[in-house]
Amino acid sequence: MKIMNGVNSIGEILNKITNAKKGKSGIKSIDTIIQKMDDQKYEYILYRLNKQLEIVKKYNPSVRPAIDPYVSSELGVYSGLNNIEDYGALMNYPDCCVKSFETARFGIDAEHLKEAELIKKEIKNEVINGKINVKDKCAIIMPSGFIPCSLNCKNAIERNLINIVSYDEQINIIELENKLSQELPHYHGAYGEYYEKIILL
Ligand SMILES: [Zn+2]
Repeated sequence: MKIMNGVNSIGEILNKITNAKKGKSGIKSIDTIIQKMDDQKYEYILYRLNKQLEIVKKYNPSVRPAIDPYVSSELGVYSGLNNIEDYGALMNYPDCCVKSFETARFGIDAEHLKEAELIKKEIKNEVINGKINVKDKCAIIMPSGFIPCSLNCKNAIERNLINIVSYDEQINIIELENKLSQELPHYHGAYGEYYEKIILL
């Protein structure tokens, strides 16, 4: 498994979309959607993703943000891509999490919060034992719209879709979010934020 940071994983989604134009993304339904899309819209999507990538590079977050809501709406909701597995493949979501999502776990639920409580306890012990500083592990961060099968999902952690971040990194991520909403305004109000945050402190 290739280790990816937040920047690489946005770059990878961008690559899949440009490959889809040539019918080579490896995901049939995405190829069809991109090839059917008029050129102006396609160019606009690339423009927005490139701009997002440029901003994300500056902040270099440890978890990738959700992709630009305009782009994800155009690729998902408005294009008729109802196939969750293909959407998950485009977004590089692990199969275990996609399968769990298909069982109608559409949001962070009680089970996730129970896991968060256990994680909090472990962190508390690490702080008490002097292994970490109180500001080292402050929040669980995920891209908005990504619902993991478990907060401890190794596959999601490997793909930079979940991370427990320090206080400083949490601030960095909030600043990145603000910058993205400023620079890439949109009217797809489904989610205004790029990250899901579970605060642990
Ligand atoms: Zn999973």
